[in-house]
Amino acid sequence: VRPAYLEIPMALERTLSIIKPDAVGKNVIGEIYTRFEKAGLKIVAARMKHLSRAEAEGFYAVHRERPFFNALVEFMTSGPVMIQALEGDNAVLKHRDLMGATNPKDAAAGTIRADFADSIDANAVHGSDSLENAAIEIAYFFPSTDVHAR
Ligand code: GDP
Ligand code: MG
Repeated sequence: VRPAYLEIPMALERTLSIIKPDAVGKNVIGEIYTRFEKAGLKIVAARMKHLSRAEAEGFYAVHRERPFFNALVEFMTSGPVMIQALEGDNAVLKHRDLMGATNPKDAAAGTIRADFADSIDANAVHGSDSLENAAIEIAYFFPSTDVHAR
């Protein structure tokens, strides 16, 4: 039995979540928030926003050269999105696990994308893929004074 003092402590992290226009349109913001809360992720900042083309292009700048970039920007500006910063133990990976695979056809049963996404384009949610990107993405949408430590 490992003594308690050798247990590796969980890292308290923050990650950026976006409920995309398709899921906002399906009126499932609350259902998705409930999944975050039940998994122990706290909402520490939130805002609804209809992204401009420039805002969506800036947010997804890493995908600029990808063939799907234009479709992605079109989709992300097609209606309002719900943007939140989530805080909790291992928040980045925990949130990615709740989301499921990028293509809903590959998403595990019970994940947000399996339950709410229609296609690889309209796939319901965004989540930061690393702690480093999480910090960049949270700062993209929230001034630090709008992120509330809990
Ligand atoms: P994510 O981190 O799981 O959201 O996936 P990526 O960072 O790889 O891609 C960002 C977003 O671009 C995805 O959520 C999809 O909406 C979209 N996307 C990714 N790959 C493809 C693709 O092969 N085709 C299309 N049409 N869209 C894609
Ligand atoms: Mg990604």
